[in-house]
Amino acid sequence: MLLIKIIPMKNVNAYGTPAADAMLGPLSIERRTVGPHDVQIEILFCGVCHSDIHQARNEWGGSIFPMVPGHEIVGRITAVGDHVKDFKVGELAGVGCLVDSCRTCVACAAGEEQFCDNGMVGTYNSKGKDGLPTYGGYSTLIVVDEKFTLHVSDKLDLAGVAPLLCAGITTYSPLRHWKIGKGHKVAVVGLGGLGHMGVKFAVAFGADVTVLSTSASKEADAKQLGAHHFAVTKDAAVMKGLAGHFDFILNTVSANHDYNEYLQLLSMNGTMVVVGVPEKPSTVGAFNLIGKRRSLAGSLIGGIRETQEMLDFCAEHNIVSDIEIIKMSEINEAYERILRSDVRYRFVIDMASLK
Ligand SMILES: [Zn+2]
Ligand SMILES: [Zn+2]
Repeated sequence: MLLIKIIPMKNVNAYGTPAADAMLGPLSIERRTVGPHDVQIEILFCGVCHSDIHQARNEWGGSIFPMVPGHEIVGRITAVGDHVKDFKVGELAGVGCLVDSCRTCVACAAGEEQFCDNGMVGTYNSKGKDGLPTYGGYSTLIVVDEKFTLHVSDKLDLAGVAPLLCAGITTYSPLRHWKIGKGHKVAVVGLGGLGHMGVKFAVAFGADVTVLSTSASKEADAKQLGAHHFAVTKDAAVMKGLAGHFDFILNTVSANHDYNEYLQLLSMNGTMVVVGVPEKPSTVGAFNLIGKRRSLAGSLIGGIRETQEMLDFCAEHNIVSDIEIIKMSEINEAYERILRSDVRYRFVIDMASLK
């Protein structure tokens, strides 16, 4: 006899795309009903990440359609499973870039589920352990395992919290991993969704922070975000003056560029961490590393434990993302504006506009 386990599902309003070359529009998706360890969240806001565009347009390959993007999710808990102890109906909650992992490998055991040896389950454009596609936050409701649900403080502006779930943790995690704080000279390259959070965190950790940008027009914003210094990278004399200056460079740029230009700015034992994903690989001159024992490293979002730590830190220090709120129907236009870098610094969808 063939036994098929039927998972009860419910229909949920969403916004997504049926194909890589299509516009985003209204969709109906199915979410599982609340299991014993699940938390059901009515989504109130969802941030718009540049990787939503890459995946919706299949620019990284392997996209699963139809796709409902969105992994900067905040909302209110409307139901919890029988075994859930840590979350209660009526509380605020968040969901970031991952909704499951193997939970047993070395990375998972260390609380670094984003590096799961068996592949983390992405919040969208992924397949869950039940074999079903995952759908993201451009929707009115999500059901997530309690282990991948985050507590969100009601002290902060909720819409501004949403981007912390990806842009926030992506910049917080490397600054923490490399123990950045007082006495460190830090450069943040690129002042977009990631960069502006990198500046806020590096300043909050006590570092001396410089924003490096191709555009002089960003100086006032950089200073307003708390940066102590600003330099235009197109100015060869300025770049020469900064040679060997920084202990740590957080490189958030996802446009194609030459890493060597920035490596030269590192002091002895300095580290540059890349968190952006340029389309074309950059070659690196060995002398730029050997010369001052410099390191080039990368970092990917953060684990659940660290994401919670970051959210708690933000609540304590009153840190949120600088945002522009949009309606769900404005998402296609928002994508075009992101591609033109015409956003300060993150779009956040008001999900009431989808109901
Ligand atoms: Zn993201
Ligand atoms: Zn794992």
